[in-house]
Amino acid sequence: MLLDGKVPGGPIAGKWDRHRFELKLVNPANKRKFNIIVVGTGLGGGAAAATLAELGYCVKAFCFQDTPRRAHSIAAQGGINAAKNYPNDGDSIHRLFYDTVKGGDFRAREANVHRLAECSNLIIDHCVAQGIPFARDYGGLLANRSFGGAQVSRTFYARGQTGQQLLLGAYSSLSRQIADGKVEMYPRREMLDLVMVNGHAKGIIVRNLITGELESHAADAVVLATGGYGNVFFLSTNAMGSNVSANFAAYRKGALFANPCFTQIHPTCIPVHGTYQSKLTLMSESLRNDGRVWVPQNPGDKRPPHQIPEGERDYYLESKYPSFGNLVPRDVASRNAKEQCDAGKGVGDTGLAVYLDFGDAIKRDGEDVIRKKYGNLFQMYEKITADNPYQTPMMIYPAVHYTMGGMWVDYNLMSNIPGLFVLGEANFSDHGANRLGASALMQGLADGYFVLPYTIGGYLAGAEKGSISANDTAFVETEKNVQARIDKLLSINGKRTVDDFHRQLGLIMWDYCGMARNNAGLEKARTMIRDLRGEFWENVLVPGGGKDFNQSLEKAGRVADFLEFGELMVIDALARQESCGGHFNEGFQTDENEAQRDDDNFCHVAAWQYQGEGQDPEFHKEELKFENVKLTQRSYK
Ligand SMILES: Cc1cc2nc3c(=O)[nH]c(=O)nc-3n(C[C@H](O)[C@H](O)[C@H](O)COP(=O)(O)OP(=O)(O)OC[C@H]3O[C@@H](n4cnc5c(N)ncnc54)[C@H](O)[C@@H]3O)c2cc1C
Repeated sequence: MLLDGKVPGGPIAGKWDRHRFELKLVNPANKRKFNIIVVGTGLGGGAAAATLAELGYCVKAFCFQDTPRRAHSIAAQGGINAAKNYPNDGDSIHRLFYDTVKGGDFRAREANVHRLAECSNLIIDHCVAQGIPFARDYGGLLANRSFGGAQVSRTFYARGQTGQQLLLGAYSSLSRQIADGKVEMYPRREMLDLVMVNGHAKGIIVRNLITGELESHAADAVVLATGGYGNVFFLSTNAMGSNVSANFAAYRKGALFANPCFTQIHPTCIPVHGTYQSKLTLMSESLRNDGRVWVPQNPGDKRPPHQIPEGERDYYLESKYPSFGNLVPRDVASRNAKEQCDAGKGVGDTGLAVYLDFGDAIKRDGEDVIRKKYGNLFQMYEKITADNPYQTPMMIYPAVHYTMGGMWVDYNLMSNIPGLFVLGEANFSDHGANRLGASALMQGLADGYFVLPYTIGGYLAGAEKGSISANDTAFVETEKNVQARIDKLLSINGKRTVDDFHRQLGLIMWDYCGMARNNAGLEKARTMIRDLRGEFWENVLVPGGGKDFNQSLEKAGRVADFLEFGELMVIDALARQESCGGHFNEGFQTDENEAQRDDDNFCHVAAWQYQGEGQDPEFHKEELKFENVKLTQRSYK
């Protein structure tokens, strides 16, 4: 299959402008004749649904929560990047573009990243107009703070609740369209399959999670904005409901899954503290603006932190990376934390933690200043750990946080299935092998507010309007298959709970396809996942029935998909015989233990095509061309 990213020609700074001009337009009077389905109403989907409706399209929006306000986006803490250069510290669209390509270890498509940087400033203006209460400096300008992988301050924030405030903005725009009748909102619906008609995406099958009824919905185009799949690891900082199922349904129907092994492990999370824990908590990267990361210099030193004198502390990020210090990108910070713990210098009961210490910042700025900047994060930490971080350093350890992989999309955010668009964390598009902090919100909102509303018109302008009905045989057939899978899950009546399988899968993924990987481990994981999947379909216990509210059934479907998807991640990790960003294969590292890329053989997007249950997927690649950024070994020294 020829994978055409449809990147427009010409100089990079003019590509998006020109492309928008060249895209066919849909006449305003015709827009109301097109129906668009948007699955997911987090920042990506919420922004898209509201904007498409404002443009005049008829939109049906779906989410599995009781309200769009509870999308996982609400959890985003630290901020959103933009190249406004308000602090006058040398930022520009080009610098944001460059930092993002480099941060992603040169595995993203240049043109997409440049467009993202261009849109970043529009997002801030748009959100300010919506009334988002961004932090301001005393002169009234919007304030900024720093995030990893950048030497400028470009992160806009609303204390530690940026995602919540941005989501309320998108939700109010969406609510206006719901009230106007331009968006039909379907909460508590889970998309279980994609419906294809003549090779085009024309609708979805959803389950009403309250009544258990299956419903068919038809449209002229389908947009997936269904978030990331970090929960394949069971323990992650993601919301418990985050899943891969909508993406995986599209994959089964022929949509390519790109770079599934690119997972982000965030360096600053509250460490795991028990076998029965089901959720991990992020401590925002913004804390690394003032917090200093350290471990005892001597392995096995079990003294409490205040008894370890300054001279016996190892501020390893500051000494190893003097230019970026504690603000190195996440993949680098995470690997270094692991390295310290592997060397016996980890702290806390398990030895799987390092300190994040605000002692110096409090001495320098005073407790009040620190409280104003990070108060809610400190409070959250204290509630969970019963330690007061104003008095004693936080203990942190890396945890699964974000997934750079996702559905392959072209420059128009359309997958290889005509009419199927994918936005936000659900697509693979902008972050390469490692996402920089505060860039996910930027991408979701750029996709939803500023990219899709143009590009979907280019597709619809050539499409027949409202031609498909949910009574079409394709819908009837697909619904039958969905029902058969539900019946099968309910009929097994085995002995192990869904969570039990999920926890075991998560451990396999973490041990063999996590922060560090190697070929032998990946091979072993593949067999283990297959065995576990086999057992799942014979021995899972899903209590209750299919015709009412049944959360075990919901989880069972998601875990069944994770059990197939986990193997795809492993296959992808095995195929990429290099290290880059978050994909660290121990066989490929520099003398200084940094990720060693192989640009001759792997400067591409790996895109996988489903071949049927139990069959190996077919590999396709999109070569990446770097014409504006020089491919170099990443250095943050
Ligand atoms: C703790 C935490 C903090 C973060 N902080 C930041 C930050 O400070 N800055 C930053 O840039 N990024 C941050 N991120 C990342 C960022 O929050 C996410 O990448 C982003 O919010 C994802 O938005 P989204 O719209 O793509 O998906 P989501 O917000 O995950 O929304 C997914 C939507 O899809 C729906 N859905 C999913 N599956 C189905 C289905 N099968 N059927 C129907 N509906 C479905 C859900 O109901 C939901 O509405 C953080 C992430 C975490 C975990």
